[in-house]
Amino acid sequence: MRIADKFKQGKTIFSFEVFPPKKTSPVETILNALEQMKELSPDYFSITYGAGGSNPGKTLEIASKIKNEYGIEALAHLTCINSNKEDIDKVLEDLQKENIENILALRGDIVPDLEPKTDFRYASELCEYIKTKGNFNLAGACYPEVHVDAENQVEDIINLKKKVDNGAEFLISQLFFDNSAFYRFYESTKIAGINVPIEAGIMPVTNKKQIERMVSMCGVSLPGKFSKIMQKYENNPEALRDAGIAYAIEQIVDLIANDVDGIHLYTMNNPYVATKIKGAINNLL
Ligand code: FAD
Repeated sequence: MRIADKFKQGKTIFSFEVFPPKKTSPVETILNALEQMKELSPDYFSITYGAGGSNPGKTLEIASKIKNEYGIEALAHLTCINSNKEDIDKVLEDLQKENIENILALRGDIVPDLEPKTDFRYASELCEYIKTKGNFNLAGACYPEVHVDAENQVEDIINLKKKVDNGAEFLISQLFFDNSAFYRFYESTKIAGINVPIEAGIMPVTNKKQIERMVSMCGVSLPGKFSKIMQKYENNPEALRDAGIAYAIEQIVDLIANDVDGIHLYTMNNPYVATKIKGAINNLL
């Protein structure tokens, strides 16, 4: 099923993001987590591609398992900055063979010391290309607090509109901890004429290292209330985890009350966290 059609059913979409294991580990290392998370019946799973040193080939393997064995929709991430058209053609062919029609079309990060290939400069160009290659349902990424490479929010939103005009039928946001940043961004997209559903990306923070990495990589702001919690419990892993889950639940409740199109949970492959959150919001969806 095309995931974009799920948004037309008039309910809040609830989805999980998972990542494949590192290159050196077999796929089996996340199967236990997946088995537990599938019981929570998300509307779909998205599977990252090449992020954090994972093997891109495993994205397909995991997406296929989710779609063809679990019977849950899979959204395969696909980056283009280090690929040429032949590389992308091969991935698209493999996805089609596995009956996977939903793709999150991404540029990918520009890595120092690795000269980007030249066929695709932006995710919007990847969307345009994939549209010529078959009947895929495309999604795109968006950034409530502005993408790190963008000059400003106006430019970023103009570029986002190109991605939507080139075929992205729904968007998933970068994580954020301040809902008001998401609401301001959402309003700006509407003013810019972006009329596709936008899922809010929520990352339950469960350890201190994770926060530091996220802030330096994504440039997200940390509200005072959030920093206070993190400081108070930084040396108590269980309390920090519980506080991180509680904070994410509070964000989600507020987002749903404000009629968000969907919640995309960055699960970090952690079934405990996913289960706690789904349990707390089950009646709200
Ligand atoms: P684009 O949409 O191409 O935007 C990148 C930058 O270029 C922005 O600053 C934008 O304003 C600018 N821009 C866009 N179009 C134009 C234009 N026509 N002219 C001038 N400037 C332009 N990374 C991975 O490696 N693997 C993953 O699986 C992965 N999953 C992700 C999932 C989500 C939900 C999100 C939010 C991010 C994910 N990322 C992943 C990270 C992503 O690859 C990076 O944030 C990357 O730097 C940008 O990708 P993009 O698709 O948003 O790029």
